[in-house]
Amino acid sequence: MVDLHIHTSFSPDSHLPAERACRAAAARGLKIAGFADHVEFLPADEAYVDLIDSTKILTEIERLRDLYRGKLEILYGAEIGFIPGKESQIKDFLDSQPLDYAIGSVHYVDGILVSRWVREQELAGKDFAPYFETVLAVAESGLFEVLGHLDYIRKYLFAPQAYRGDDYEEIVERILESAARSGLVLELNTAGWRHATEEPYPGEKILKRFAELGGCVTGTTGVTGVAGVKGVTVGSDAHKDYEVGYGNGKARELLRGAGFGSVEVFRQHKRSSLPL
Ligand SMILES: [Zn+2]
Ligand SMILES: [Zn+2]
Repeated sequence: MVDLHIHTSFSPDSHLPAERACRAAAARGLKIAGFADHVEFLPADEAYVDLIDSTKILTEIERLRDLYRGKLEILYGAEIGFIPGKESQIKDFLDSQPLDYAIGSVHYVDGILVSRWVREQELAGKDFAPYFETVLAVAESGLFEVLGHLDYIRKYLFAPQAYRGDDYEEIVERILESAARSGLVLELNTAGWRHATEEPYPGEKILKRFAELGGCVTGTTGVTGVAGVKGVTVGSDAHKDYEVGYGNGKARELLRGAGFGSVEVFRQHKRSSLPL
């Protein structure tokens, strides 16, 4: 299968050399490995866009594409940390890069890193609606191919099992509707299976709802560049070699059960469906 969310050592929070990531992907039998290194739009972040050396990343990708030709397809993606108000700067970056795809993720809420923000909200007895409002802004921005880890705030909760997703049903519905309308692909982020929450981001309920809204493309294969056909993709959010392709088998089962027949991949922003 595929893994479109791998962080190599080009991400400040990963020490995984890109070549090692490819070796792990090939060893796990993946057909496609997508690098999605961090690009952030707040100057204080270590992955701030002006600090990114894209030439180095590209040179390494080209080298690895040669090395793995016929064995593993390597895609050049990026995980963009969305900041409301920075849309034009994000667009300039995306336009400047020969990217295959961009994942839009929320890593900051009101300028605070999500890990800290979630704790602060929890301690103050406040809800997480502002996070989902920001995710909705990602979906509506029209900047990205993939919506990253929709409800991963669960990762940072003291008591993840007590999280009441139903409290956010309405705003999540708006996010899914927006994605379904624009053809934005939802990421099944398998990292949740290795976190205390023990459920991917998003979980089965949201995936099923997305399928009901028209995210289901069962039986459709080889569709390329079809706007408005809704779909999902799979990413491990690997920062270590043993996390590459993590939960791929379980992801396939979950997606089939939710009503999906394929996963989506992107080459130079053109979309293709691979049967599950
Ligand atoms: Zn992320
Ligand atoms: Zn990530």
